[in-house]
Amino acid sequence: MLPSGCVMKEEMLSKKKAKAKLYTRYPLSSLLIYNGATILHFLLGGIGIILGYSFSSWTGYAFGALYLVFSFVEMYVMMPLTVCPHCVYYRMKDSLCISGLNVISKKVAKEGDPKDFPKRAKGLFCNNNLYMAALMVPIMAMIPALIMNFSFLLLAIFFAVVGLLLFRFFVIFTKIACVHCYAKHKCPQAEAMGVRNM
Ligand code: SF4
Repeated sequence: MLPSGCVMKEEMLSKKKAKAKLYTRYPLSSLLIYNGATILHFLLGGIGIILGYSFSSWTGYAFGALYLVFSFVEMYVMMPLTVCPHCVYYRMKDSLCISGLNVISKKVAKEGDPKDFPKRAKGLFCNNNLYMAALMVPIMAMIPALIMNFSFLLLAIFFAVVGLLLFRFFVIFTKIACVHCYAKHKCPQAEAMGVRNM
């Protein structure tokens, strides 16, 4: 357990560097937008894969189900078990991060080391790469499916998933989530999105 002075120091450092308001507790509306967009992305992605490969009796269902399990487990099981314990929100009193997963993490995982937080972006199968894979796989899978098994419904799902990805990059990360996050000075994703000095 880190002394509360360290948590305060980390918070003060983030406040000093940041221009945008940093949230100890994100508003409920932000949580709903973040998790709503995430769940919708995974569900539409899974449905798109099933529909796109429906010409083969089992491939679509198997691939779609595999994708759904992978994406939900990566986000809502692996994240609170392996990433959140190292995050500043785990240690801040009465905090609520953008996904709300810090609350779950506190119940299911032991406190980690803040120095290990940037490890989320290290290695081929690191959490950041798996997170990106969960977002990108349905888009990549639906492109050949559109060629082999075109339908306007599949095209609409494809555009919806691409739209959700762009919404995540250009609105959620930069205006709702990372920009207001106390972890942004340590988080590799915030660095990649260029929001550290916002
Ligand atoms: S900076 Fe963004 S990705 Fe990183 S912990 Fe905060 S909200 Fe999550």
